[in-house]
Amino acid sequence: MQLEFSNLHSVLCIGAHPDDIEIGCGGTLLELMSRNPAARMDWIVFGCNRVREIEAISSFRRWFGNNPSRTIHTHFFSDTHFPSQQSGIKEQFRILSPSISPDVIFTHRLEDRHQDHRLLAELTWQTFRSHLILEYEIPKYEGDLGNPNVFFPLKAETVQSKIQYLLDEFPTQREKPWFDRETFQAMMRIRGLESRAESGFAEAFHARKIVVRL
Ligand SMILES: [Zn+2]
Repeated sequence: MQLEFSNLHSVLCIGAHPDDIEIGCGGTLLELMSRNPAARMDWIVFGCNRVREIEAISSFRRWFGNNPSRTIHTHFFSDTHFPSQQSGIKEQFRILSPSISPDVIFTHRLEDRHQDHRLLAELTWQTFRSHLILEYEIPKYEGDLGNPNVFFPLKAETVQSKIQYLLDEFPTQREKPWFDRETFQAMMRIRGLESRAESGFAEAFHARKIVVRL
C-alpha cells in the first residue's frame, strides 16, 4: 500500500539552521508543493544571524518563488546554544500553534545528536499533538543516521534541482568539507535504493506515530 499526499491545505517545516530543511526534505517539498500549489506553507528557521538570514530567504525564494501562500519566518537564536534559550524558543512555538493546523509537519529527529536539532524535535512533539509529524535526516560527523521508515521517491530532475539550489544558495557553508554534491546525492541514493525508487533517489523520514482514519 502507498500513502498519498494530495489536497494538502497546510504544511509546516521546522529547521534549526538555514539549510537544514533543504538538506532534510528539500526534494520532497519541491514535489509536494508543486502538486499542491494552493497549499499554505510555513517555513521556520530558528538559528539565523544577519548573513544567514539572507541565505535562508534567498533559498526559500529559489525553492518556492514568490507564492504568497508560502511564508518564511526567521528567528535569531544562537547557533549551538538552543538548550540555554529554550524558554524563548518554546514561546515561539506557543505563539505559532493556534494560528495553523498543518496536515503534515517536517521537523528534526528526536535522536539527532545536534542539540539544537534535538530541542526543536522535542518542542514540535510537545506542541503538535494531533498532527502527522515526519522527522527528516541531517548527515553529520557524529554518524547518527538511523533506519527511516517513510520514503518519498524523487524524480531525477528534482534531485538535481535540490543539489544545485543547496550549492548555489548557501555560500557560507561551502568551506565545510561535507557540504558538497557527493554528500547530498549519496544520501538520496541510499534512500532511493532502500525504497526501490524508480529514479534511484529518495528522501527518508522517521514517523513515530500514524493515525489512520477511514
Ligand atoms: Zn542544523
